[in-house]
Amino acid sequence: ANSNLFAALRAAFPADLGRIAVETDNGLFYSWQDLDRASAMMANLFGALGLEEGARIAVQVEKSVEAMILYLATLRAGYVFLPLNTAYQSAEIEYFIGNAEPAVVVCTRRNAAWVEPIASAAGTRHVFTLDDDRTGTLLELAAQCSDRHEVARKKSGDLAAILYTSGTTGRSKGAMLTHGNLLSNAEVLKDYWGWKKGDVLIHALPIFHVHGLFVALHGALLNGSKMIWLTRFDPKRVIEKLPEATVFMGVPTLYVRLLAEPGLTREAVRNMRLFVAGSAPLLIETFDEWRERTGHTILERYGMSETIMLTSNPYSPAQGERRGGTVGFPLPGVRLRVRDDAGRECTTDEIGSIEVSGPNVFAGYWRMPEKTKEEFTADGFFKTGDVGKIDGRGYVTIVGRSKDLIISGGYNVYPAEIEGYINELPGVAESAVVGVPHPDFGEVGVAIVIAKAGGALDADAIVAELKSKLANFKIPKRCFVVPELPRNTMGKVQKALLREQHKGLFA
Ligand code: ATP
Ligand code: MG
Repeated sequence: ANSNLFAALRAAFPADLGRIAVETDNGLFYSWQDLDRASAMMANLFGALGLEEGARIAVQVEKSVEAMILYLATLRAGYVFLPLNTAYQSAEIEYFIGNAEPAVVVCTRRNAAWVEPIASAAGTRHVFTLDDDRTGTLLELAAQCSDRHEVARKKSGDLAAILYTSGTTGRSKGAMLTHGNLLSNAEVLKDYWGWKKGDVLIHALPIFHVHGLFVALHGALLNGSKMIWLTRFDPKRVIEKLPEATVFMGVPTLYVRLLAEPGLTREAVRNMRLFVAGSAPLLIETFDEWRERTGHTILERYGMSETIMLTSNPYSPAQGERRGGTVGFPLPGVRLRVRDDAGRECTTDEIGSIEVSGPNVFAGYWRMPEKTKEEFTADGFFKTGDVGKIDGRGYVTIVGRSKDLIISGGYNVYPAEIEGYINELPGVAESAVVGVPHPDFGEVGVAIVIAKAGGALDADAIVAELKSKLANFKIPKRCFVVPELPRNTMGKVQKALLREQHKGLFA
């Protein structure tokens, strides 16, 4: 059989190809037939270019249905899809294109002037344009190609995509994902999250990242489900569309922004089946407030570019309750363990490094064999770089990243624990604790705190309050109240940036 991921997705299209597959926010309706034909035509265009086996097709375009078709066409033709964050500018694109050496680059018409020279310097032979209004050379050329296309034959170990990590802890690394990685994870999630006939997904996430490109898109496609395709997240628009949908997926900040809308009511979510959150920690407050306002319990899950999804809170009550602050259980097929620095497996509730293995774990970092070797254990587990624990019932909790761990006077301080205490204080919206160099203690914590809308906070009072609750080595030595935390497009707090900003405090 053909292990091409596209073959599996295509096989899940409904028998009646005339049904609506995608509805856009500007009133366009795409049938399953449209997706099939358009991806066939584009795949034929790529096929005619005579690209070598394993050629990369790098893409930096605005979100559109055509951009999604471009992803499908790349799979279909058997090449490697390489999506790039739309926020990246020339220095970043130069790094990614220089590193990946794609055979084809697709960019917006506006960016073509500076992308072209970067691409040709990297040996790219074809630069096409694609805009979010269905124009550009890519579509013009594809329009001249046949709409009959036989899906390229692929083995499950063949590369399907290279996804650059978000760059939260350092320079982005290209995670090489195979057809088998993507398909196995999509199949597990389809089952675990109870995807069923009649489901409709609101797709409001960017498609250059795991969450929007794989978790959300594969979920809907593999279930033959219609998508309400929103090119950007607009909370009012999402609320307007909720009554027509059953599934929504978002990063935590999207939930916070939805909660700020009076239109978010039980009535608005009456047809919803599932709300999924991930990519960054969901505050327990958001989790509780959501349940109060909508009657729905957000299902939080955990994953990363290198592994796609790893754990999930249970979908069905028979498997257990959805517990706020945890990321649930390892998904079927995923082996997850927590080990201490000496390599011993941690006991219940003991904090250590999270390591994983399974059919979803990537094939290595693109052109970084040394780094790849470092990040795998001798027995083949991938070191996620996340720190966490497993409770007596098997729920996994992430307490932070190993790179964010603070070692103060020889003691480990887990920022998430301190942040949890700060977030509970009256008037606090959220917080970030980072370690900075200190001449006596090696490192000390610094707290950056955001006040609730309309409120004011006293930084010294926060520190005093913590002193009454926690051991001295855990107390942040300084506290700042600021208007907002620096975040990247995936809603992740940029702790490296905060460390950099405050590194001179005690120097
Ligand atoms: P880089 O690896 O370049 O530093 P990154 O790790 O942020 O960037 P991604 O692969 O996009 O890049 O993100 C994966 C990370 O996101 C995980 O390792 C984890 O730290 C975090 N994450 C994902 N889901 C959750 C969650 N539900 N709760 C807490 N953290 C999460
Ligand atoms: Mg990472």
